[in-house]
Amino acid sequence: MPDASPDPAADIPEPGEVRRLMPGLLRARMPLPFPPGHVNIWLLEHEGGWLAVDTAIASRTTRELWDRVLAQPALGGRPLTGLLVTHFHPDHIGLTGWLCGRFGLIPAMTRIEWLMARALWYDSGPDMMAQQIAHYARAGCPADYLAHVEARGPLYQRAVGELPRAFHCIRDGGTLTIGGEEWRVMTGSGHAPDMACLHSAARGVLISADQILPRISPYVGLHPGEPNADPLGDFLASLERFAALPEDTLVLPSHGEPFRTLHPRLETLASHHAMRLDALADACREPATAFEAAQLLFPRAAQEPGQIGFAVGETLAHLRRLERQGRVEAIPGTGEAVLFRAR
Ligand SMILES: [Zn+2]
Repeated sequence: MPDASPDPAADIPEPGEVRRLMPGLLRARMPLPFPPGHVNIWLLEHEGGWLAVDTAIASRTTRELWDRVLAQPALGGRPLTGLLVTHFHPDHIGLTGWLCGRFGLIPAMTRIEWLMARALWYDSGPDMMAQQIAHYARAGCPADYLAHVEARGPLYQRAVGELPRAFHCIRDGGTLTIGGEEWRVMTGSGHAPDMACLHSAARGVLISADQILPRISPYVGLHPGEPNADPLGDFLASLERFAALPEDTLVLPSHGEPFRTLHPRLETLASHHAMRLDALADACREPATAFEAAQLLFPRAAQEPGQIGFAVGETLAHLRRLERQGRVEAIPGTGEAVLFRAR
């Protein structure tokens, strides 16, 4: 690769520390108590301080680690002067309120991600739980899993602190001036509805959030609040837009290590989902519920209560894609359950 700088993947920051990736761009890494186990935070030099990209989940551990990160010599004792949150998921937005309160900031987000976060944060009542349980019942999940969901209750507020009341709206194609440099906002869909990524042509860097990850394929799931959506179709369509970026782009993902193989990675993600769709269409020659089909796509996860929701959500996203392609159809099953049958 045409790059004289040291291998960025070789130097993973310990919790509470930072690593300098290039002038004016630092990386911190916060632990997560669930897979994939960590989230990357990027710090860009900006107006006498640092603009942070993402925050980690809200917990005492992550607040203590932020204190240590902010005290690192590489930051020069300078404060956060900006915050950009890529999307509404807790591992990215969790400490937004805490950081904004501390530094007097307003977070930059796309409007959809901001509104999703605000809506979910306040949506924790019995209606929401009833909707979740009905969603998993239609997916054919066993009664003990429905009981598990009910007992677990709403999750979002547990890992997300109270959010600020105002935000700064960013949108696809817009440019942000960060530390005197232009970064272009590129949004992706499918993992989250309007996730912000940042591209600097001058640096040859893409901050890819969760849209393009180096090892795992980003979770693409059907949300109970939008049961007829086609998130996998949205995801695959938005991947194509990133193929317009130069081949030697340095990709900074939210999970995993920086990498320079953007184009092969985009192809791998697309072919991975094409293979999964074929396998699923084949399996539906015997009509199956989403839960049954999930046993094929995610044999391990579909057995663990903590992972069934992801396995079923992602299987439903694939079934919806097949439905749009005219390859499967939904038919009534027993009780509330819906079956998917190959056409
Ligand atoms: Zn994430």
